[in-house]
Amino acid sequence: MAKHHQIVIVGGGTAGVTVAALLLRRGGKNGRKNGRLNGNGNGHLNGHHNGHLDIAIVEPSDKHYYQPAWTLVGAGVYDAQKTVRPEAKVIPEGVVWIKERCASFQPEQNQITLGNGETVTYDYLVVAPGIQLDWDKVKGLRETLGKNGVCSNYSFETAPYTFECIKNLKKGKAIFHSPHTPVKCGGAPHKIMYIAADYFRKHGVLDDIDIQYWSGGTRLFAVEKYEKTLLKVVERGHIKLNFHQKLEEIDGERKRARFVGIGEHNKGVETWVEFDMIHVTPPQSAPDFIKSSPLANSAGWVDVHINTLQHNKYKNVFSLGDGAALPTSKTGAAVRKQAPVVVENLLSLMRGEPLTASYNGYTSCPLVTGYGKLVLAEFDYSNQPRETFPFDQSKERFDMYVLKKELLPRFYWRGMVKGIV
Ligand SMILES: Cc1cc2nc3c(=O)[nH]c(=O)nc-3n(C[C@H](O)[C@H](O)[C@H](O)COP(=O)(O)OP(=O)(O)OC[C@H]3O[C@@H](n4cnc5c(N)ncnc54)[C@H](O)[C@@H]3O)c2cc1C
Repeated sequence: MAKHHQIVIVGGGTAGVTVAALLLRRGGKNGRKNGRLNGNGNGHLNGHHNGHLDIAIVEPSDKHYYQPAWTLVGAGVYDAQKTVRPEAKVIPEGVVWIKERCASFQPEQNQITLGNGETVTYDYLVVAPGIQLDWDKVKGLRETLGKNGVCSNYSFETAPYTFECIKNLKKGKAIFHSPHTPVKCGGAPHKIMYIAADYFRKHGVLDDIDIQYWSGGTRLFAVEKYEKTLLKVVERGHIKLNFHQKLEEIDGERKRARFVGIGEHNKGVETWVEFDMIHVTPPQSAPDFIKSSPLANSAGWVDVHINTLQHNKYKNVFSLGDGAALPTSKTGAAVRKQAPVVVENLLSLMRGEPLTASYNGYTSCPLVTGYGKLVLAEFDYSNQPRETFPFDQSKERFDMYVLKKELLPRFYWRGMVKGIV
């Protein structure tokens, strides 16, 4: 017989766990680790069940990562082991953990199918699967990643090697790459470049290293206020910028990378670039099991209303985080603002009330511009700054670096994933 839970959350990463914890705080705790309390399996959307919620998280991984610190791991100033915790310790007490992957969705039947073939039905579904790293879309990348000077902060396993590459480079060419696709944390592909430039400068080798940025994008940063500062940092590091470039192939043995032009002016033009080190950000897309599901929009992301975060077709489905079709920069900071909106609107729906909570596209990117320097970019759907502090956040500051390195990780583990947002 199919398992049933009142609320099923797909994905136990930043978004999934934060929503579960917030639901318990705002919607009541069932006080039991296992078992079903209130699910009725008939798809009824009403009924708040006396404040007791029966929540399950579907998550195959037994590890939970604090990914924002991987930039600092690559910079050599943060212990990678501090970015990982057992998933079992992060899933809130009172939530059932289904340790399996979700393979497919049957929203007409309020049902999902797991990787092991079992099904789970729900009254409400929250989809928080993150984004997919398409390492194999760059020929030769997987084979050479972690050696030959090819590094990436985009995984727990490979981030420490980034610092090895930076530390060992005394002269030559350092390439930093950003793909032509959406990515999580749009700042991460270039933050590590500013850090590297600062490291080279501090160790007296900056003049001997040719730093180049090769990007599939059209500009350095979407918000002019912050981009202005970043362009000064670029100048300080003598960094050469190349846009409209798609990374097609890496030949690790010969230490060269092949880019192809994707702009009007350079379409199809092929360039082999030699390197001594290259930091690669893998192309990214919606997870395949989302792309192929009835929940996806034409681009593959979970098709939700950009303000209410409710699915545009299936009203008992919500989505947030990197996998949702939200036209803003995909960050954990964005999730922090999305989670309360999902929770409030979901609880309103359960009570049969109108959905009043609204997400404005808020996102934040702590742009590390060197050791001890950070520009805290905060903006919304219209790329307008939405700053928290009463000073000009486009200026590089030491206290904002301390915020990123010391305070935000603590806030994440002690606050956010416990439903304090
Ligand atoms: C190098 C780097 C630097 C970053 N820097 C910052 C930063 O400075 N500030 C910031 O705010 N954000 C930053 N981020 C982004 C931030 O980590 C993400 O935006 C955030 O984790 C998104 O949360 P999520 O829950 O959508 O995805 P995730 O946290 O990635 O979680 C997705 C979860 O879904 C699970 N899953 C996948 N497939 C399935 C399936 N089939 N069934 C069930 N579960 C599944 C995964 O195992 C995972 O646990 C950075 C990310 C990286 C990689």
